[in-house]
Parts: sequence; C-alpha cells; structure tokens
Amino acid sequence: MAEIISGKAVSAAKREEIKNRVAELNSKGKQVGLAVIIVGNNSASRVYVNNKKKACEEVGINSYEYALPEETTQEELLELIKDLNTNDEVNGILCQLPLPSHIDEQAVINAIDHKKDVDAFHPFNVGHIMIGDYTFLPCTPAGIMEMLKYYNISVSGKKCVVIGRSNIVGKPMAMLLLKENGTVEICHSRTENLKEETLTADILVAAVGKADFVTADMVKDGAVVIDVGMNRNKEGKLCGDVCYEEVEKKASFITPVPGGVGPMTITMLLENTVRAVEI
Ligand code: NAP
Repeated sequence: MAEIISGKAVSAAKREEIKNRVAELNSKGKQVGLAVIIVGNNSASRVYVNNKKKACEEVGINSYEYALPEETTQEELLELIKDLNTNDEVNGILCQLPLPSHIDEQAVINAIDHKKDVDAFHPFNVGHIMIGDYTFLPCTPAGIMEMLKYYNISVSGKKCVVIGRSNIVGKPMAMLLLKENGTVEICHSRTENLKEETLTADILVAAVGKADFVTADMVKDGAVVIDVGMNRNKEGKLCGDVCYEEVEKKASFITPVPGGVGPMTITMLLENTVRAVEI
C-alpha cells in the first residue's frame, strides 16, 4: 500500500509559513495584494476564484476581485490590466482562465506585467523557467515539487515520466523535474506504446484530464504517482486521472484526488504573491 502524499498537510504547513511572511511585511508597513479577474459566468471558474479569495484572507493577503460580464471586450480587459499593472496596492494579477472565446488569452497573459504575473504564464517567466533561474513558478508544478520535498522524495537520477504537455502543467513540470536532475520524458496523445513508457517511471505524473486513465498495469512497482487530473466520474464525483484503488497497491507514494495536488496549486499562488512583494 502506498503512502498518501497529503496536499492538505503540505499546504497547511506552507500556508502557515506564508502567513508569517505576510505578517512580517505588514510589520514593515507593506501590504500584499492580489487582483483576481473573472470574465463571464463559468461556474467552475467562480468556485476557483472564491477558493483563491478565501485562501488570501486566511494568510492576510488583500484580494481585489474584478468580475466582468461575459460580453466584456478584449480592449476593456486589456485596459483594466494596464491600470492594475500600475496600481501599487496590487502586487499580483491573476486572470482566471478560460476566457470567453472572443478574447485572445495569450494577448491577455502578455499584457500582465511580468513582475505581477503570479500564475507564471507570461513568456518572460516561461523563458526563465527554461533557463532554470526564476522568480515565479507555475503554481501546479511548483506545488508538486513542494510535496516531493516535504515527503523527502528525491528526484535526482530518477526516471520521471510526465503524461501531458500543456503549457500550464506538463511542460513546466518536466522542466522543474529536470532542474532537480531527474531523467525526464514527456508523453502525450501521439506517444506510441504509452504503457511501455510509463512502466519505466520511478516518478509518474499524470496531467491528462481523463478519469481512470492510469491503470495499475501502467505503473512500475514502487513508483511515486502524482495525479494532477481534476475530472468528474460517471456519478459526478471529483476524481483524478489515476485509478486510485488499484494503483495505490503498487505505488510507494500517491496523491489522492481530492486532497492532493489541488490544495497545493492555490497555496503556490499565495507563495508567488508574497514573493512579488519580497523581491
Ligand atoms: P490539457 O491542456 O487538456 O492537456 C492534456 C494533455 O494530455 C495533452 O498534452 C494531451 O496530449 C494529453 N493527452 C490527452 N489524451 C492522451 C492520451 N490518450 N495519451 C497520452 N496523452 C494524452 O490539460 P491541462 O490543463 O494540462 O490539465 C490536465 C488535467 O489536470 C485536467 O484534468 C485539469 O483539470 C487538471 N488540472 C488540475 C490542476 C490542479 O490544481 N489539481 C491544475 C491544472 C490542471 P496532446 O498535447 O497531444 O493533445
């Protein structure tokens, strides 16, 4: 039976540390502020934004919400970002994705001052991740690295297989594992014989977005399995990409869903926001 990597536990410890850092900044007369922009009525986005605001409150970060209607134009959104870029009360800017289809997401990401880009999606920060010299790390992969560290799971020399090559999870995840000296492979929908690849993994990260995608026969005995997926199963229950019940019998460590990677993602957003003030 695998040891459970509890995102809740790691997150609680990290949030306590962040809270102390915010208090330290406050004692020097510095406030920490995060602007959260949400456009339209996507119900999942509303839940994420509410959770982010609640987490900010918990650690003493001021959050400023900008809830814009679905019909907001790209120009209006870019104008708001321009204002927030020069607003001294705002240290971090987060624009909740996805945006309505008439808005070019990359144009919006590019408009955010890279020093306030707490999602680390701006090409400036993406470039720094490639170089391995960074201020902000994308929240989900950074949260995973924190969890590995917390559980003393060494990456150096290990074979790491990441399933998924998105800009927000798969690619930066591979870069962070590489920085820690893992031997990294990225798999995707065109990978041939996926199972052959995943069976070589000492550390397997699943970021696919398909329930029950990773089955026990795809996992090496004793592997560390990180489940990034956030899906709904047939009963409408939140679940990951990994068949938890069967894989936990083979893995040495595993993250559950919920309670694994999810809580860490928001925690790393708080980390980036505090860092924006500290640097
Ligand atoms: P995405 O942009 O849809 O990327 C999914 C990746 O999976 C793609 O690279 C795709 O390959 C690959 N893929 C799809 N089918 C595959 C197959 N049959 N075999 C191998 N690879 C396959 O998704 P994402 O944004 O990275 O998110 C992935 C999952 O993580 C989603 O469930 C999302 O909700 C979740 N997520 C969770 C958190 C969290 O905080 N827990 C944060 C972010 C995302 P191609 O590139 O070839 O299409």
